[in-house]
Amino acid sequence: MAENSTITICLMAILFITRLASTLGKSRPWTGFLSPRLQTLHFARNLHLEPDAIKSVSSDYGNLVHENPAAVLYPSSIEDITSLIKFSYNNYTPFTVAARGHGHSVGGQAMASNGVVVDMMSLRHHKNGTGITVSKSPSLGFYADVGGEQLWIDVLRSTIEHGFAPVSWTDYLYLTVGGTLSNAGISGTTFRYGPQISNVYEMDVVTGKGEVVTCSSRSNSELFYAVLGGLGQFGIITRARIALEPAPKRVKWVRMLYSDFSAFTKDQELLISINGRKQKNALDYLEGSLLMVQGPPNNWRSSFFPSSDIPKIMSLVTQHAIIYCLEAAKYYDDETRQTVDKDLQQLFKGLSFVDGFMFEKDVSYVDFLNRVRSGEEKLHSQGLWDVPHPWLNLFLPKSRISDFNKGVFHDIVLKRNITTGVVLFYPMNRQKWDDKMSAVIPDEDVFYTVGFLHSSGFDDWQAYDQQNKDILKFCHQAGIEIKQYLPLHNSYKEWINHFGSKWRRFRERKAQFDPKMMLSPGQRIFNDI
Ligand code: FAD
Repeated sequence: MAENSTITICLMAILFITRLASTLGKSRPWTGFLSPRLQTLHFARNLHLEPDAIKSVSSDYGNLVHENPAAVLYPSSIEDITSLIKFSYNNYTPFTVAARGHGHSVGGQAMASNGVVVDMMSLRHHKNGTGITVSKSPSLGFYADVGGEQLWIDVLRSTIEHGFAPVSWTDYLYLTVGGTLSNAGISGTTFRYGPQISNVYEMDVVTGKGEVVTCSSRSNSELFYAVLGGLGQFGIITRARIALEPAPKRVKWVRMLYSDFSAFTKDQELLISINGRKQKNALDYLEGSLLMVQGPPNNWRSSFFPSSDIPKIMSLVTQHAIIYCLEAAKYYDDETRQTVDKDLQQLFKGLSFVDGFMFEKDVSYVDFLNRVRSGEEKLHSQGLWDVPHPWLNLFLPKSRISDFNKGVFHDIVLKRNITTGVVLFYPMNRQKWDDKMSAVIPDEDVFYTVGFLHSSGFDDWQAYDQQNKDILKFCHQAGIEIKQYLPLHNSYKEWINHFGSKWRRFRERKAQFDPKMMLSPGQRIFNDI
């Protein structure tokens, strides 16, 4: 009996020790890449190494690049972020740190192989609704102070409660403020209001030294301009002060179809030439896209066309192989309800779209801005949202768009017959961008953005990738000086070429604000030096 109980006690002790060891091991299987001293810091409880945490940040919307960090920080305060960066900065061997917004990059830009990914979205849970505040000042008028981790959809919802809204948007709103400001943030509103980076008054940024710096065009301006379009290279945006205007109520949303490329682009350019912020007769939004025989007129980005019009549209597309779709919108409210149609008629007078192929909708402002969401939900429900996305986004100088139309749309895309996704094509005005910012655009007054927003299967993405490479090769050989938007480059030389005349300053800013080159390694700019 005594012998039995000794054995039982021994077994229980062994079980307890094994459980304890395994629990400790599970919560902190300390990694060879990070200093164990990190465990002793106050935020260590927010640093996670479990496989689930690692997996959640080792992929992105592109689903083509997969890189494991050593740990994930779920910050509960800005201080967690500053402490992490300071620790790395002062470490004998610094580790890399990547802010991850909503992970909607397509090439691993928010990843940090063997470093630490800071999951910015976790800050949203710790702010108790204080992540977006609306205020007014005599010099700025109304503005919103917004955490870098906030989604634009939430910025819209919060500001509209006060009757205000930002003026510059992306097509899709489930992106973070920090993520789009690190690129530019573009859409059909850019021709008139500039990209989102042109609508920021001030930011708080945690630099690569772990310092929190408030910056604006007047104070710490070098950091301010560096961070806007800076691909996460100079600091982590924790707050941005965004310009607001009174929010309109409704939107007249129009699409017109063209069979002729020059007529299409001539009309787009005419419409974006009226672009004063206060100019009452200007459009609020202008985009364009391609309809091709290999894809349906409606797609996940928007199901604009009513099903009754689809046969008529498809027959036009079949007749011409490529149809160009000009998309425009004008906002209105109670005051302009009576005049908006007349204003649009005036604006569209003399445009050369195919007779009988103008379509119109009248929707609420919020539904218009959030138009991509329903497509996303549908794809989610079909399990098609998380497929590979071999995207290519470019800026093209206006002077070469005809060459691009022939060489790319006709001779590559149409002939290859694989593009079933969205292809966007619309112009914007250079004067709405600030050259001091890090974002790079072509050196012409008007330039176009083209977006090949492909969704592919898991075993055929290479065909799309190859097409993207062939498009880039064609541009290079034809001497078309494109700039990639949401850039993906493979070598240091390509990055130097990408930034062109801005490269020297970009490098100097890196040396100043992130001298140990820790931040956003997933962009692969400074990794090899
Ligand atoms: P992430 O992918 O998480 O991060 C992107 C980069 O920014 C990384 O390098 C990351 O380290 C850095 N970063 C993230 N947060 C911060 C921060 N707080 N401070 C500093 N750096 C940070 N873009 C447009 O301009 N217009 C569009 O209409 C548009 N539509 C899109 C639609 C879809 C469906 C998708 C998937 C993307 C779209 N994009 C569009 C692209 C999008 O703007 C970029 O991919 C953007 O980076 C995504 O934001 P995110 O919050 O997911 O950033």
